[in-house]
Formats: sequence, C-alpha cells, structure tokens
Amino acid sequence: MAARVLDGTAVARTIREELRGEVRALVAGGVRPGLGVVLVGDNPASGVYVRSKTKACEDLGLHSETRRLAATAATDEVAAAVVEYNRRRDIHGILVQLPLPPQVEATRVLDLVDPAKDVDGFHPDNVGRLVQKRARFVPCTPAGIMELLARYGIPVAGRRAVVIGRSDIVGKPMALLLMHADATVTVCHSRTADLPAVCREADILVAAMGRAGFVRAGHVKPGAVVIDVGMNRVQDPDQARDLLVPERLAEFERKGHALVGDVHAPSVREVASALTPVPGGVGPLTIALLLKNTVRAAAAAVPD
Ligand code: NAP
Repeated sequence: MAARVLDGTAVARTIREELRGEVRALVAGGVRPGLGVVLVGDNPASGVYVRSKTKACEDLGLHSETRRLAATAATDEVAAAVVEYNRRRDIHGILVQLPLPPQVEATRVLDLVDPAKDVDGFHPDNVGRLVQKRARFVPCTPAGIMELLARYGIPVAGRRAVVIGRSDIVGKPMALLLMHADATVTVCHSRTADLPAVCREADILVAAMGRAGFVRAGHVKPGAVVIDVGMNRVQDPDQARDLLVPERLAEFERKGHALVGDVHAPSVREVASALTPVPGGVGPLTIALLLKNTVRAAAAAVPD
C-alpha cells in the first residue's frame, strides 16, 4: 500500500488565496500588513528561509523588510532592531530568524518582541495563552500541520498522537494543539525508552527531530498518518540512495544534494496511510501560516 501524499504546497496555496481578499480589504482601508525580519549573521539556510518568507509576503501584497546584522552583533544591537520594529506602526509582525549566533542572548531578544506583533508565537505571553487554549499567535509550523490535518479531513479527536521532539518551536506547541484537538498525546525525545514501540502506538505520528530518515517502517503502525517536519540536507551519495525515494534520485544526481525529512520515506510510505513529503509538505505550510499570522496582526491593529 502506498501512502497518500499530503500535499502541503497545495494546501499552502489555498491558504494564501483565502488571505488575498483580507489583504485587499486591509490595503483599501489604508493598512498594508507589514512583516519586519531580523536576520543575524550569514547562515545560508537562514538566508534561504528569509528569502522565501519575504518573497511570499510580496506575492500576497504584504510589505516586508529585513534588518541584517553582522554575525558578530551583540545582544544589544539585535535587541535595538526588535525595539525599532515594535515602535513602527507600519510593521505588524516581527520575525527574529533563528538560530541566533551564540553570543546573542536569544531569550532576551525574543522576550522583547511586542506580543501583539509576535507572529512566530514564541513570546512567553503567547506561549502561555496557547497553553490555556486561548491562543493569539500559534507557532507557524505546528499551526500549519493542524490546518493540513483539518483540510484533509483527518480526524484527531480520540486518536493517539505521538510527537517526536520537544522543542519550543515545534514539538511542544504541536503536542498542545493535538491535545486541544482532543487527541491523546505522547511527547518523545532523545531519552525516550524504546522509541519505536511508543511510536507504533500512534494513529498520528509527528517527527520533528532533525535526524535524516530516522523514522523507519518499524516505528509506524500500519495505516498511521505520518507528518514529517524534518529538513535535513543530504550530500553523501550512499546516504541519498538509502534515504530518497527512487523518483528523487535523478534530482540528487543533478544537484549533488537533496533535502530529506526525519522520516525514511521509501519504507514508511509502504506502511503509513498518509505521509507529508519533504520538500513540499510542512515547509510551505509554515510560510503560509506566517502570512496568516501577519495579516491577523495587521487586522487587529486597525482601530474599530
Ligand atoms: P531541535 O530544537 O533540535 O529539537 C529536536 C528534538 O528532537 C529534541 O527534543 C530532541 O530531544 C529530539 N531528538 C533528537 N534526536 C532524537 C532521537 N534520536 N530520538 C528521539 N528524539 C530525538 O529541532 P526543532 O527546531 O524542533 O526542529 C526539528 C526538525 O524540524 C529540524 O530538522 C528542523 O530543520 C525542522 N523544522 C522544519 C520546519 C519546517 O517548516 N518544515 C520548521 C521548524 C523546524 P532532546 O530534547 O532530548 O534533545
């Protein structure tokens, strides 16, 4: 049985189209939603993510701008960029691209973001609201996954969900959202004993660990829905031959590298009932939800 492909690119496109009318109405009322990005250093992956986010903003008619700071920037400089965006009325959403270089106190910087502009949902005020099920901004990756499940009509209530990973940006908020949607949730991490057995209890399995192809068929209950959050770059040809589905090998040979998830797609797609591809699964949804949060932030800033 080949798993159904959960097409994140298509769902993300639908979400963006749904936002278009809202953006038009805001612009007609004199408010162009604006996203302010802070990018510190020259991490190539961060550069790629920021470019795709700002391009997505432009395509939808949002204003976006990026404040670039040197890799050696001190916490105070990064903090000053955030404070400046907090002050500006034309910036409704603020995104501090992670990871920040080690000398920058990430917590201090993220805590400075105005919670009303915190479109990544990382500020403790917004995290607390999410915990209490009265969320304002939900972190974009798990929010995108919930949209994907809903739009594919995948039931969550009463089902067993297992989340591998307990990060603040993916694992924890994912577990909260699934619990709020009435799943029975288990959160796994690097110290979980007998991870494959725990994973095999899942009707919905979310892998967010950052380990290329780690989740194999033996982790998956037949018929489970598997969501692959991982984004890992593979350059080694032997690893590529193991991790990539055969139809992607030509792409690897052409480029010399490929993006793979945390799920071993060639084996898992034979066991799961549905699987998100990498690329084209969770990634585009994350960006669509960032746009949605930014439009919401702008709408909330419009006086009645
Ligand atoms: P992270 O902060 O590094 O967290 C990884 C989590 O996985 C940790 O909780 C860690 O456990 C757990 N883990 C690592 N190795 C494990 C193992 N062998 N067994 C069980 N658990 C293990 O990563 P993240 O920021 O959550 O990101 C996870 C992945 O998702 C990365 O590949 C990242 O690039 C990707 N990502 C994708 C998107 C997207 O839009 N598609 C967005 C965000 C992140 P401990 O807590 O015990 O260390």
